[in-house]
Amino acid sequence: MQPFSFHTVPHLIIERGGATRLGALVAPRFGARKTCLITDAFLYRSGLLSAPLESLRASGFEVLVIDDVQPDPPDHVIEAIAVRAWEFGAELVIGFGGGSSMDAAKLVAVLLAGTQALSDMYGVDKIRGARRPLIQVPTTAGTGSEVTAVAIVTTGDTTKSGIVSSSLYADMALLDAELTLGLPPAITAATGIDAMVHAIEAYTSCRLKNPISDMLALQALALIAAHLVRACEDGTDLDAREALLLGAMLAGQAFANAPVAAVHALAYPLGGRFHLPHGLSNALVLPEVLRFNAQVPAATEAYAELATRLLPELTGDAKARATAFIRQLKALIAATGLPHRLRDHGIAQKDLSQLAADAMQQTRLLANNPREMTEAAALDIYRRAW
Ligand code: NAD
Repeated sequence: MQPFSFHTVPHLIIERGGATRLGALVAPRFGARKTCLITDAFLYRSGLLSAPLESLRASGFEVLVIDDVQPDPPDHVIEAIAVRAWEFGAELVIGFGGGSSMDAAKLVAVLLAGTQALSDMYGVDKIRGARRPLIQVPTTAGTGSEVTAVAIVTTGDTTKSGIVSSSLYADMALLDAELTLGLPPAITAATGIDAMVHAIEAYTSCRLKNPISDMLALQALALIAAHLVRACEDGTDLDAREALLLGAMLAGQAFANAPVAAVHALAYPLGGRFHLPHGLSNALVLPEVLRFNAQVPAATEAYAELATRLLPELTGDAKARATAFIRQLKALIAATGLPHRLRDHGIAQKDLSQLAADAMQQTRLLANNPREMTEAAALDIYRRAW
């Protein structure tokens, strides 16, 4: 066996309704009381935060809510949040929301230590020094950010840049499926597909894939595939919601250790240039990237194994099962109701070359792809997905 190491968040709490007693869960584990809770304005207005805030205050926490997070958070927004948190004297940071809020919270916890500028952190292992204690509470079942060492930031007008560092693993994450009951079908679908892509890309990641990430990816894929359409059709189905939240977290643990690849590399420019939701961007390019990868034996074998997990009755050689896997994913995406062609989302054919050039900048991700990606291949994938 290849040597490997595996990292994750040290303390996970999975509890329906757990957010209503957030204060009681956090108080015994953290000495700090001045808390900055980072979220977005919609979630703050929605009332979802009322009970968690009440519980924190009842447990003696002094809380400043900063609800300035925007989807795909831009660098300047994160820096401004960090200044407000610093002026307040925050000793503890809570990320409450989707990946955008949780990613912002990670970086604010580092920026509060005051040792490094955000602009110095991009890339892998660039963060120096300590951060403030950090708790994550996801309200989407998608990014797995609550258990990853990754934060994604929009830099400039169009580029999504990654910061990867073990400092970004939270100290604790609380998964309360009741927080996800109000997610509209389109966000449920997009975020669920994002999680599914994490599982698939972790399972085929060519450098750091390992037995633990494989096990997590398989279980995540099974949970998400079995419950995604159910949750899109009936958002109040708490069992389906909980299975998705768990699946997204397991997929997050998988890809935090066996990083994602070309699906994400080709999805990022769609988010950066056209501001499509992250999960939707993944869904749009997923089948065509998989079809491209499936031409090399390592990917064919891996997709065939994933196919057997989803469709145990499947027969045939690895190539046939890999093809059936891709067909099954396409059907799943269609069943969630997401418009699934690039042209459905305001992207013109003339935009495709720029997207391909942008995707090639994602070298951190492309290095993990089971088949080498070229700009010509990326363009062909966008054309087929158009
Ligand atoms: P998001 O955080 O951008 O939120 C999307 C929308 O959903 C927002 O309008 C938000 O208000 C709404 N929303 C969130 N929870 C809700 C709820 N319970 N009910 C109703 N509406 C709700 O979406 P996301 O997909 O979770 O996160 C995307 C971001 O995460 C992107 O920036 C992406 O690049 C990043 N990301 C990070 C990682 C990581 O490991 N750190 C992994 C994948 C993606």
